[in-house]
Amino acid sequence: MVNYKKFFPITLLSALLIVGCSNSLQESGNNKKEHQQTESRDIVEETKSVEVLPSFLNDKPKEMKNLYASVAKNRELLENIPCYCGCGKSSGHKNNYDCFVYKNHKDGAIVWDDHATKCGVCLEIAATSIQDYKAGKSIKEIRKKIDEAYKNGYAEPTPTPNL
Ligand SMILES: [Zn+2]
Repeated sequence: MVNYKKFFPITLLSALLIVGCSNSLQESGNNKKEHQQTESRDIVEETKSVEVLPSFLNDKPKEMKNLYASVAKNRELLENIPCYCGCGKSSGHKNNYDCFVYKNHKDGAIVWDDHATKCGVCLEIAATSIQDYKAGKSIKEIRKKIDEAYKNGYAEPTPTPNL
């Protein structure tokens, strides 16, 4: 768990590395079953466009707000990147985009998901992917790098179809 820094020398997110959601998975043996269900329920909030961030981000750091905004604008990329926090099982997510955005409406309205605000793994995967994408890497290359970096010591990936 500790060697993520080796793969992700991103300082901007270090402040955001709150308790990863994978921790609760590992400790699930100690938790009461009824509590697990309520804990895994994430807040969703709709705004009229990707330009309007949800109010659950109001008290969050600037870096996290910026990341949510970037994720919403990089849907194609992140729908092809799996998340390794365990949210495939706990929240039914299909990819890393789902950790930030619950749903896009045809008229441009967007339903945000607060899952990633509670999850260092989700945040790191999105931040690294977007950074590499901006640097010119292909989605396929990024996918490979993420799969490689998280294959040991993390939860099962979301069932994201192969590229
Ligand atoms: Zn996740």
